[in-house]
Amino acid sequence: MTFANLGLSPELLLAVAARQYTLPTAVQTEAIPAVLAGQDVMALAQTGSGKTAAFALPLLQRLQQDMEEGSKQRKVKVLVLVPTRELSGQVGQTIETLAEHLPKKLKVAVIYGGASINPQMMHLRGGADVVISTPGRLLDLLDNNALSLQHVSTLVLDEADRLLDLGFADEIKRILEQLPAQRQNLFFSATFSPAVKKLALALLHEPKRIAIADLTENLPDIAQRAIAVDADKRTRLLVHLIKEQQWERVLVFVATKYASDTVSNKLKKAGIKTEAFNGDASQGARQHMLADFKANRIQVLVATDLAARGIDVAGLPAVVNYDLPRSADDYIHRIGRTGRAGASGCAISFILAEHEMHFRLIEKRQDKRVPRETLAGFEPSQTSGDMTPEETDAPTGGIKGKRKSKKDKLRELAAQNK
Ligand code: ADP
Ligand code: MG
Repeated sequence: MTFANLGLSPELLLAVAARQYTLPTAVQTEAIPAVLAGQDVMALAQTGSGKTAAFALPLLQRLQQDMEEGSKQRKVKVLVLVPTRELSGQVGQTIETLAEHLPKKLKVAVIYGGASINPQMMHLRGGADVVISTPGRLLDLLDNNALSLQHVSTLVLDEADRLLDLGFADEIKRILEQLPAQRQNLFFSATFSPAVKKLALALLHEPKRIAIADLTENLPDIAQRAIAVDADKRTRLLVHLIKEQQWERVLVFVATKYASDTVSNKLKKAGIKTEAFNGDASQGARQHMLADFKANRIQVLVATDLAARGIDVAGLPAVVNYDLPRSADDYIHRIGRTGRAGASGCAISFILAEHEMHFRLIEKRQDKRVPRETLAGFEPSQTSGDMTPEETDAPTGGIKGKRKSKKDKLRELAAQNK
C-alpha cells in the first residue's frame, strides 16, 4: 500500500514525501480511506504509530473540496481535541506542514490553556478552518464567544485515553453539546480502558474499528532492559550509561518534579547537557527545551510523566525509567517515546528491590519478561527477584562485604519480631 493508492491528492502526496514518509503506517492505511468516505473511526494504536497524519491527511483533502473560495469569515469545520498544550502544538504543526502545498490556504488555530487568552482570541477573529485545542481553554473561548462550533463537520478526539486520565470528561461533554448533532467523529487512543470504551460508544456512530495489534505487539523494535540497582546509586548509574552508550539524546523519566530538578542538577554537575522538563517550566521554556533537545543542544531531558505526555522527538534512541511509572499503560506510553515509526530504540528501567513486584505487573501486562541485569560497580545491596523471602530476610542478608543498609537492619528487626 502506498499513499498514492489511498486516494490522496498530488499536493498532499508532495507534503508526505517532503516529510519523508515513504509508506503509510498500518493505522494510516486503514483510517485514511474511511475518513475520506466520511465514516466515523475508532482507532486503537500505540504511541508513535502515525495517528496524526492518519486523520490530518484525509481531513485536509476533504476540507479542500468543501472550502468556499473567497468567503471572508472562515467557519470551523474540523475540531481536534487534545489533552495537552504540547500536543496541540505538535498536531498543529503537523497539520500546517501537511497543508503546505494545498491550493486553497487554510487557517489553523492552535489553542491551549496556561497562556494568555487574548492573543488566541485575536487569532480567532475572522474564524479558522481547523481548531486544535485543549478542552478547558476551548470552553473559555466559547464562553467569550470567540468562536462558534456550529459548522463543525468533523470532531477528532486525539489521545482520548489521556483526555480522560486528565479528567476532561465533563469538559468534553460540554463541548459536545455545542456541536451539530450531524457530524463525523474520529476517535484515537493508545489504550482502551472501560472509561475510554464508554466515551467511544457514546460518541461514535457505526464506526470503522481499527485496532493495530495490541498495544504491546509493535514493541519488539524496542530493546527493553531492566537493571537492578539501589536507590542511591541510580544517578551514578545513569551518568555511567549516558557516557557508555553515547546516546545522542535520552529521555529520563522520574516520579516527581522534585526528582526531575535534583537528577538534572546532578547530571549537569557531571558535565552532561541536561534540563529538567516539568510543569514548573513555562510553556515557552519547555518549547525551547524541546527545540534544543531536537537540535542536539541538550542531551538529556529529565521529565515527569505529565510534562512528557505527547513529546514527539523523531529518532529518540533511548528512554530511561529512573523511577518506574505508576501503571503498566504509562510504561508503554513512556517506552513508546523511543523507536517511533519503525526506528529502533532502547528502554532501560532501574529496578529497586522494593519495586520488583511492581515491575512484574508491568511485565505481565505486556506478556513479556525482561531479564534483570546487574552492572559491575552498581550491584544492589539488597537482593530480590528470584530469591525466596527467607533468603532476602535472612539476618546475614545483603551481599558479603557490604555494610548493611538501614533498610536491611529494619528487615532484620521485622524478621526477629515475627
Ligand atoms: P501517534 O499520534 O500515533 O503517537 P504521531 O502521529 O505523533 O504518532 O507520529 C509519530 C512519528 O512518526 C512522527 O514523528 C511522525 O512524523 C512519524 N510518521 C508518521 N507517519 C509516518 C510514516 N508514514 N512514515 C514515517 N514516519 C511517519
Ligand atoms: Mg498522537
